[in-house]
Amino acid sequence: MIDKRSYRGRRARLAGAIVAAAVCGLGGQALAATSGGIGTGGSGDGTGTSGDGVFPVRGHHTYGDGLGAGRDHQGQDIMAKCGLPVVAAQAGRVELVDYHPAAGNYVVIDGVGKAADTVYMHLTNRASVRKRETVEAGDQLGTVGRTGNASACHLHFEMWSSPGYYTGGSVIDPLPYLKRWDKAS
Ligand SMILES: [Zn+2]
Repeated sequence: MIDKRSYRGRRARLAGAIVAAAVCGLGGQALAATSGGIGTGGSGDGTGTSGDGVFPVRGHHTYGDGLGAGRDHQGQDIMAKCGLPVVAAQAGRVELVDYHPAAGNYVVIDGVGKAADTVYMHLTNRASVRKRETVEAGDQLGTVGRTGNASACHLHFEMWSSPGYYTGGSVIDPLPYLKRWDKAS
């Protein structure tokens, strides 16, 4: 999963890219194989960028690699101890609960047109919510883990604009939202 493009550039950037790849191997196309099976996207009648929500990790955390990170990284890594609760950042309907070799145990929450889709990866175990279940912001989904292509405990968090995750939406940079939710919690 290491993107060869990560190896271009100056030595400092190179070192950073290697560390980043070692922590979280998720880059663009990592989950392309799953894109065919997800047909239950949001209604698409909203902007999909609502900012109301809560920080998705309960407990001490730091920020790891962000969007891009020199290797098409599609989300923000939140470094935290394995076992800390992972909660829904925004309300919505559970669209997908699955395991993927890169993502590990992951869950996708469809914001149903009112909010972005939010995606939580590398959970310790299969997410504790069920597909099509409705969740509120703050509801627990699982715990921070390192399943899939992850060499350290962290949550890989993604946000997708309406109509959503691999259903025609685009990746949004979640960092401004996370920073705001972090401050409020
Ligand atoms: Zn990541």
